[in-house]
Amino acid sequence: MDASDPHIHVTVDLGTETETRNLLSSTFGLVADRPSVVKAGCGRRVPFAMTAQQPEHVTCLPCRDYAAARHQRVAEQLLESRTLTLDPGDLRRAADHHRDLARRYASD
Ligand SMILES: [Zn+2]
Repeated sequence: MDASDPHIHVTVDLGTETETRNLLSSTFGLVADRPSVVKAGCGRRVPFAMTAQQPEHVTCLPCRDYAAARHQRVAEQLLESRTLTLDPGDLRRAADHHRDLARRYASD
């Protein structure tokens, strides 16, 4: 961990772990401890406070590349999973959501 690192990163799981934790705590009243240091998309270990989930807030370029590629891949996987018993409109909307995030990470 580099204390002089001024950049904002993405967590390696792109916030899904936080969403899961929030869901658990609101559903079951559990309050799990948030890790103070997390693995970032660029491979560094960074303080959780130095990560963000909004593309516009992330300033670490390798993290932006990582997040853009990851969201693009999720969008493609959603569109390829048409055999699942999901509404095609829902799939399309979910894919569009990830494509939009990928675009926002890729710009700038
Ligand atoms: Zn980073």
